Amino acid sequence: MIVRITSKYGALDGSHKTPHNGIDLAMPEGTTLRMIGEGVVDRIYDGSAAIGKGLSVQFEDGTRAIYGHMNEVSVKVGQHVKDGQIVGISGNTGHSTGPHLHVGMKDASGGWLDPSEQVERILANGRVGDGIGDIPKFSIGEWLHEKVAEVTLNSSVDFISDLAFSFPIIAVVSAGVYCFTRMFSKSLAKWGAIGTVIYGICVID
Ligand SMILES: [Zn+2]
Repeated sequence: MIVRITSKYGALDGSHKTPHNGIDLAMPEGTTLRMIGEGVVDRIYDGSAAIGKGLSVQFEDGTRAIYGHMNEVSVKVGQHVKDGQIVGISGNTGHSTGPHLHVGMKDASGGWLDPSEQVERILANGRVGDGIGDIPKFSIGEWLHEKVAEVTLNSSVDFISDLAFSFPIIAVVSAGVYCFTRMFSKSLAKWGAIGTVIYGICVID
């Protein structure tokens, strides 16, 4: 899964009348979230404030990470969390115009920091895509690559089962390429379909 940054740190836009003190990552509700450092949970947001449900974790160097608009928080105040530990799932709680995660960071004296460098490690399954504020573009190649990457992330399955998993998709895409190119040339259609199968297998890593 690829998620996008829909509002950058410091942004002024329709939903942020004062400079945004964190970043927003659009993601489906229920996305598993990891903590981006080792520390102690110093606050749980119960959902009654604008930030919705969320948490704040203080790291050993005194900085804090704050997650907001979550659906469920799976840790408690005072709990020690490891870097990368799962702390809950994303949602759409509080003042929010759509499913997203708000991520804020504070330095030891309480000043806001830009968390952009850290966001890549929040997602348990997936990555933060390029581009700001745009909706993920659908392409079969990217989707296939993501699917295979997800399977590889979830379990260390080997190439053969990746191939078995992807083969129906490759077959459908090849058939599509064949039918389309046959309108122009029969031999082109044949090589187009073979090329697609080879490409599909090469994409599996
Ligand atoms: Zn935000």
